[in-house]
Amino acid sequence: MEINKSWKDFILFKDKSLFRKVVVLLSLLIILLILLLLRNYRDFCDGYSKTVVQFYELVFGHIASFFPFSFFELFVIGTIVYAISWIFFFILKTKRTGIKKSYHMILRLLVIVMSIITLYQATAGIEYSRYPVDIPQHHELLENHQDYKEIYMSFVDDFNYCASKLTFNEEGSVVKPYSNEELIKYLELEYEKLDSDYFYKYSPKAKPMYFTGWFYRAMSISGVSFAPTAEPNYNILNPDAYQPFTIAHEMAHSKGAMPEEDANLVAAYICLNSEDPYIRYSGYDVCFWSLESFVMATNNKQNVEEFYNSIDDNIYRNNNYEYDYWTNHATFEKIADWVNDLYLKFNNDVGTISYNDNIDTTQTETEFIINSYSRYQALFMWLYFDKN
Ligand SMILES: [Zn+2]
Repeated sequence: MEINKSWKDFILFKDKSLFRKVVVLLSLLIILLILLLLRNYRDFCDGYSKTVVQFYELVFGHIASFFPFSFFELFVIGTIVYAISWIFFFILKTKRTGIKKSYHMILRLLVIVMSIITLYQATAGIEYSRYPVDIPQHHELLENHQDYKEIYMSFVDDFNYCASKLTFNEEGSVVKPYSNEELIKYLELEYEKLDSDYFYKYSPKAKPMYFTGWFYRAMSISGVSFAPTAEPNYNILNPDAYQPFTIAHEMAHSKGAMPEEDANLVAAYICLNSEDPYIRYSGYDVCFWSLESFVMATNNKQNVEEFYNSIDDNIYRNNNYEYDYWTNHATFEKIADWVNDLYLKFNNDVGTISYNDNIDTTQTETEFIINSYSRYQALFMWLYFDKN
């Protein structure tokens, strides 16, 4: 059988540049496989994150923070442009010289894709397998279930207080009282209150997603933390009440808390622990409804009615606004959820379910019981009993 010359070159590595590409590709593959194997060792992942990734974030975080725009957004736009032009030139070249001459193009693309995947795995990928975050929580269950009333009512009062300090627009949405820069600065200050070496010392500057916000909103994505550029990015098209929580969540990723449940718990702590009514409101906006279990646990219908009646009307208006907002804009939510679920599972996570609070209750015919506190509930208990 006659083998064409270019195929011979391919098989025998006569082409030096081809040989180089294959060596680079194989090396990347080996590094990636080692990194995937190392994910099974928690102590290693924790130590590696605190040293290597922390140093990486420190260097690239400083560089990225120096610029007012998001490198991640540039990366996304660049990727789309590159993908389109690659397909265009691939078809052109293949038409002209046939498929056998196109393997250089395919290999070059594979090297680029593998470099990004390997870099991502060497930063964020390893962080997924760290120990859980050490946010203060209170896990001891109450013996007298009637005591829950005083606890949840203190948070209803505080949520109402925060609402009373804010302005709501005609549509019912909270109006952000700060500029983007001010809000980012305040959240950085909130992070300074965190007393734990779990988190990296340096906080890279959070970046508003000015150009791709509409694209992410269509997928119901409120923010993206991108480890290779050490940038916490947040969608400026999020409803205002949701902004501080999102920024705090993305900053948590950039400071070493990678699993979603961890980033959410850190963001809840950062927001609910704040003295600022707007930032605290954002914490309640996400976590408040976990307190419903406390209300139910009193097993008193009157308490339930009283609870819902005592919540400020503006809070309900803002909730409805947010619900309608996402319903009207998040057209591709299901596809994005599916992709994110796959991504999280690939990274040793349980999937998108990890965004939810882990409520653990039982409803019998006669009684509602809390089996153990969820993350947010244990945080509320800490705020109530132990904060001061
Ligand atoms: Zn996240």
